[in-house]
Amino acid sequence: MMDVIAGFFAPWIIYALILLVHVALPARRVVGYVRDTRTDEPLTYRLNGPFVLIIMIALWALAGRTGLFPWDWLYLHRWSGLAGSCALGLLFSFVMVLSARSTGRPFPAELYLGRAENRQFLNSRVDAKMFLYLVGATMLALNILSFLAHHIITFGTHLSPGMVVYTCLFFWFVIDYLVFERVHLYTYDIFAERVGFKLVWGCFTFYPYFYLVGLWATAELPDPHTASWLLVVYSIVFFAGWTLSRGANMQKFFFKTDPERALLGIIKPQSLRDGEHALLCSGFWAVSRHVNYLGEILMAAGLTLVLGWPALWVVWLYPLYYMVLLIPRERADERRCAAKYGALWAEYVRRVPRRIVPGLY
Ligand code: NDP
Repeated sequence: MMDVIAGFFAPWIIYALILLVHVALPARRVVGYVRDTRTDEPLTYRLNGPFVLIIMIALWALAGRTGLFPWDWLYLHRWSGLAGSCALGLLFSFVMVLSARSTGRPFPAELYLGRAENRQFLNSRVDAKMFLYLVGATMLALNILSFLAHHIITFGTHLSPGMVVYTCLFFWFVIDYLVFERVHLYTYDIFAERVGFKLVWGCFTFYPYFYLVGLWATAELPDPHTASWLLVVYSIVFFAGWTLSRGANMQKFFFKTDPERALLGIIKPQSLRDGEHALLCSGFWAVSRHVNYLGEILMAAGLTLVLGWPALWVVWLYPLYYMVLLIPRERADERRCAAKYGALWAEYVRRVPRRIVPGLY
């Protein structure tokens, strides 16, 4: 029973530690894209994600090395940890929603989607959204390490190489997000979403516990003996996806912050303009209108395939999730852009007819 209680509260303690480390460590202060609704000034953010990740992994390694906790403690307590993070996600959602001014919409809608668009605390040392993403990414990394540790403890030298590749690729994904935290200030979640259950529970529970669903299903399975060349092919799928996603995000980020700058010094921005607004129509943004979403789906497919158990339906939940998330999101973003940009958007759609997959969709 004590074990279950410890597992339940483990995410609470870890998230509190992440907060402490985030607040205590030095951070770069950057100006964001979103404007404060009261002052119309751009919000500023303190970003130190990579350092927080390093400290939290060091603490995990220290606990394992000194024998304070087994290396796979989070794996052994994964179900109670999941329940604890769920409860905390729910509790924190209520706190975030009830402490903000109502928008007049029905309460269930406000609880799910949130009331306030942006919340900053401790004299703007902590931005709610960026902190939530930091928690999700860091806890996901700790869970992956612990699940891998369990696999290694179980199979020793007969471990699955695919599992190690999976961990490396997922670390690439997490570190990439934290290194480019600033670029994410220009993404839909930050400028269009409110702080409610969807975001809070999403980052406290769904992100760190569901994203590694493939490992939940395979950590205790033996080496599937995937051929090395296939692991290379699957990794290429992952990196092809990463290139599309990161490339498109960077190109848009440069366009918004320094419109004349060429991506990697070669992809010169071409844009459509109407005197008031401008839309990119070159490089990644000429391939399809959301080629970054295709990139995300490819990354998820690569991660799933390297595990080496394609016949298990559970492992496919991860790429499926991206399709369920991103296809409606593209539609919603399309409506937002059509309303914001009007005829300019119509011209962009004419120039770049595909939504996500070039030539197909
Ligand atoms: P986008 O980065 O595609 O942002 C959409 C916004 O970009 C639009 O609302 C519009 O905003 C602007 N925009 C659209 N087209 C153009 C154009 N041609 N030129 C200039 N600006 C344009 O989508 P998201 O914010 O949804 O996603 C950001 C990243 O995060 C993506 O790579 C996505 O795949 C990833 N993501 C990752 C998830 C994960 O769990 N790993 C989950 C969800 C997303 P504006 O009003 O500023 O012009």
